[in-house]
Amino acid sequence: MCLSVGAFDDLEAIADFAEQHQIWFHVDGAHGGAVIFSEKSKYLIHGIQRSDSLIVDFHKMMMTPPLSTAIIYNAGNRKVNEFSPKAAYLWQDQLSEEWWNSAKHTLECTKPITILHTYAIMRLYGDEIYQQNVDTLFDMGKQFAEMIKAEKDMELALEPKSNIVCFRYMPEKADADEVNKKIAEKLLADGSYYVVSTMVYGKFYLRITIMNPFTDKTCLEKLIAKIKEIALEQK
Ligand SMILES: *Cc1c(COP(=O)(O)O)cnc(C)c1O
Repeated sequence: MCLSVGAFDDLEAIADFAEQHQIWFHVDGAHGGAVIFSEKSKYLIHGIQRSDSLIVDFHKMMMTPPLSTAIIYNAGNRKVNEFSPKAAYLWQDQLSEEWWNSAKHTLECTKPITILHTYAIMRLYGDEIYQQNVDTLFDMGKQFAEMIKAEKDMELALEPKSNIVCFRYMPEKADADEVNKKIAEKLLADGSYYVVSTMVYGKFYLRITIMNPFTDKTCLEKLIAKIKEIALEQK
């Protein structure tokens, strides 16, 4: 089952399973991979070092413009070749490892130097800026969850583990799914917040991802006020 709630899978358990059954173990760290930089949160991706391949989007929590993505293969993993383009004009032997032949380690062949933004940020600020960014965003996610819990007509889908929070308005009588669908629609039309939605075990939830480290409590309070205002218009 696939849930888009900003949770982290138990990577150790998946690694054990993949190893036991000889299955390729790929980690989608597009969003979550950046927690490696956070002392506080990196426990969430324990086991990631056992993956065969890993995706990290630098344009998610690592502050580059899109698109900037790395596919990282486990060092010395000979199965890398299974994904390399079949480009006989670039090499003689399709199956040899050739670490220097970068086309063998990528899904595309020629591409722009998208890593340049990441390289520049790392050189200028070091890893610490990622730690600060991830911790700030995750703390804000937790703060928002506390604010939702304090509202008696709102409900959290689950305790957030990240900067992604799923929640909904709980109307007294009307159907909660219908009311929240309306809220999502009206928020989008209003344009001051970009709130998406997701299904959690068959129920409709609003979903926010706090990506800007300058988002503050006041901004989140205003969002809650706006949701309540829209919900009351529905009555
Ligand atoms: C953003 C995201 C994707 C999609 O990546 P894009 O770079 O936006 O195409 C896939 N998986 C997860 C978990 C993501 O957060």
